[in-house]
Amino acid sequence: MANSCGIDLGTTNSCIVIVAEGEPKVVRDKYKRATVPSVIFQSGGGDVVVGHAAKSRLGQMPPPVITVKRKMGTDEQVQLGGKLHSAVEVSAMILRHLKRMGEEEAQTTLENLVVTVPAYFNFKQKQDTETAARQAGFEEVVVLQEPVAAALAYCVNAGDEPMTVLAYDLGGGTFDVTVLERTADNEINVLAFGGDPWLGGDDFDTQLAEYLRRRLKAKNYAVDWDLTKPEQYAKFQRLKEQAEDAKKKLSNVPEVSINFPQVFCDEEGVLIDLEEIITRELFYGLVEEKLNRSIELTQETLAKSGVSAQQLTKLIMVGGSSYIPMIQDRLRQALGVEPELVDPETIVAMGAAIKAAASFGRKVDGNGISVVLDYQSKSSRTKTSINGRLSQKVQGWTAMLVQGDYESTLPLNGDRFRFDGILLSEGKLNEFALTLEDGDGEERLFADVSITQDNDATMLRSPDALIAKPIAVRTVSGLEVVIDAGARLPTRVNRIFHTEDQSGEIVVPIYEGSVPIAEVKLTDVPKNLTTGSEVEVDLIFNKDYSVKARARVLSTGHEAHAQFEIPLITVLTADQVKTKLKAIEARREQLATLVDDPSFDSLRRMIWAELDEPEPKMAKVTEDINELESLLLPAEAKAAERQALRPSLSEVERRLDEADKNARQKAEKSTFDLDEFLPHTAKLRNKAQDCWERRDASGWREVLSILAGLESLAAPSRDINQMPESEARDMAMALVFFIESEVMSKPAARELLAGIDLDKLKFAAVIEPHKAVGTGIQLLRMLVTKGITEIPGAGKSQDTGISEETPGNMAMLKGLLRSGRG
Ligand code: ADP
Ligand code: MG
Repeated sequence: MANSCGIDLGTTNSCIVIVAEGEPKVVRDKYKRATVPSVIFQSGGGDVVVGHAAKSRLGQMPPPVITVKRKMGTDEQVQLGGKLHSAVEVSAMILRHLKRMGEEEAQTTLENLVVTVPAYFNFKQKQDTETAARQAGFEEVVVLQEPVAAALAYCVNAGDEPMTVLAYDLGGGTFDVTVLERTADNEINVLAFGGDPWLGGDDFDTQLAEYLRRRLKAKNYAVDWDLTKPEQYAKFQRLKEQAEDAKKKLSNVPEVSINFPQVFCDEEGVLIDLEEIITRELFYGLVEEKLNRSIELTQETLAKSGVSAQQLTKLIMVGGSSYIPMIQDRLRQALGVEPELVDPETIVAMGAAIKAAASFGRKVDGNGISVVLDYQSKSSRTKTSINGRLSQKVQGWTAMLVQGDYESTLPLNGDRFRFDGILLSEGKLNEFALTLEDGDGEERLFADVSITQDNDATMLRSPDALIAKPIAVRTVSGLEVVIDAGARLPTRVNRIFHTEDQSGEIVVPIYEGSVPIAEVKLTDVPKNLTTGSEVEVDLIFNKDYSVKARARVLSTGHEAHAQFEIPLITVLTADQVKTKLKAIEARREQLATLVDDPSFDSLRRMIWAELDEPEPKMAKVTEDINELESLLLPAEAKAAERQALRPSLSEVERRLDEADKNARQKAEKSTFDLDEFLPHTAKLRNKAQDCWERRDASGWREVLSILAGLESLAAPSRDINQMPESEARDMAMALVFFIESEVMSKPAARELLAGIDLDKLKFAAVIEPHKAVGTGIQLLRMLVTKGITEIPGAGKSQDTGISEETPGNMAMLKGLLRSGRG
């Protein structure tokens, strides 16, 4: 619509496409250049300069600001005109510049924007982009994924057939690869996406510049620059400029010569003469590793999509770096599909504009009132409709739509109207005049409405918002993914968690990928809530990338709500990273074999390697180190489990006292042998103290198992037939296994029970557990009375308390079985 546009806010270059008469139109500068470098400069107190003029300041002091997109979502600030600015503020300045360019072309204010972001952008980065767009003065903002935009633009002109497209987008600073499908009913779906937000043409420039620096060094120039020093960094930038220039030329010719005489000095004040011949072979050798990575990631993403290379209808290449012939060759080789370069620099903004044309109404101002008109400016049908929404409610007004002889009038009460069944002449532009009159017959608003009828026009639908990285919650056993990458927004999850302690506080940390982004916190939970109580957590992810959460303790109804402000990532310095890395490495050593994730070492090596790069990307390193840390989480959880002995020693001692007390009462009423029983609890008491001191988790489990047995033994007698079926089944099974092990290990037992089919008894344990318990006890009684089997506290006589009425013994047997020996 007339006041809508699409912007590709690129790391290196940006582009704006306006919607004029329903058609997207690329805005070019007076040199017919469609892209604007995303570079910005301000001399102290002077005007802000954006684009080519700012880029020409590269290599001078103070330097212009470049690649600010890489700082989105972080707290990194940049120097501009002697002041510090956030990435959002600088992005807003670039957007404002583009907006002004677009408005000059459109001759109207641009209010609605579809702005694109890499598929990989996280929640915060998308929110930041939207904030920047609002700061730049846009009223309505939709954030769209770059590959979806590219696919929209491509598919609109690619006929009606369903198709599967792989979009390979290698720009200056980011690499995105996406597999999309266009369905039979004209919907664009993302099947898979991948890439590397830290890979792009800028890396190639750095590699080539570093090569040039090494050549200068070989010629004895003092060029051991410390790139953390602005003056020395500026000199390296100069080499990068030469490198980029050479790189671009190499896309057209097999070899270029760089001649860059005496423009700046080395560190000893000697003027540098830079003269080099760069061949394609040399250049490819320098960038091969990075380039291969993009091919690998492409294959990985294709595999993830479940589509084979043969099934691809189209392989489109987007982004300025796609011009490099070697990349086209590599892709062709790797996939066996012919790649197509489709306006690599403008296609993303074009798609954004197409989306804008479909997303926003068009706002028209009148006399004291305005209206937002919503209609399809291009239609394949011959009948259409126009919707209007007024800025305020009115009474007794009239809306009129006129085209030649055709006239339609609607009474207008309230703030909405709709003209239905408007006929369109086929294959041409249909122009209408819309007027609103108030109750006195006074014209209050006029708008011309143009609708093109075109039988081939396709309206493509596309997802607005997608989740780039899996959303996970942290539990005792590590990170648990609750929403997969690629899910559409809005979406919600609902999960049950269990309390881990009685601190009176429940905290559910939420992760995006490996980065903690928020915590849902319940603080006034009753302290007597049993550990393991159920907590229901609801997470709601909205279309505008905001997140809401609710946590509720199911048994008590305690609730907490949270609306997240996702924090900015604090980018670490190289020194901070090294310190943290060493600490993580030390921790990893301690955790030893508990860490079984092979990606830990490869990621660790990647971080060290990045720190050795000429220009380490600290935001990336910061993200990677967060991830490295989270890779230790499962091992940490296991270690914590080893550490934690539950229930506590005092609880175990209390239960032993209780068992002794029960045993005494039992001995008073029956022939229960207290003298034989008590030494066992005494022995277990010592064992418990010992295991507790040594934090021996497996010993502790054994203690608990024997404790359960002794408790059952001391418990008052119970009638088997009264016990629940599941308990009886457990007991019957335990009995059979115990008898089986006696038969296996003791020849006397084998002799005694020869002819008894234990498998049959096992079967009975499942089908008729109560009966099986009875049989099992009889067999056990035979073993005990013959002196083959000994049971503590049970003695050897026939009236030892082993009877159908004392199932507690069996629980004790289970304990014995599990621990091996009492
Ligand atoms: P972004 O999307 O990151 O803003 P673009 O898609 O505009 O970036 O691509 C910019 C990158 O493309 C830069 O690294 C630039 O050097 C590179 N590039 C532009 N033209 C060519 C070319 N002819 N050959 C090789 N690289 C090119
Ligand atoms: Mg781009």
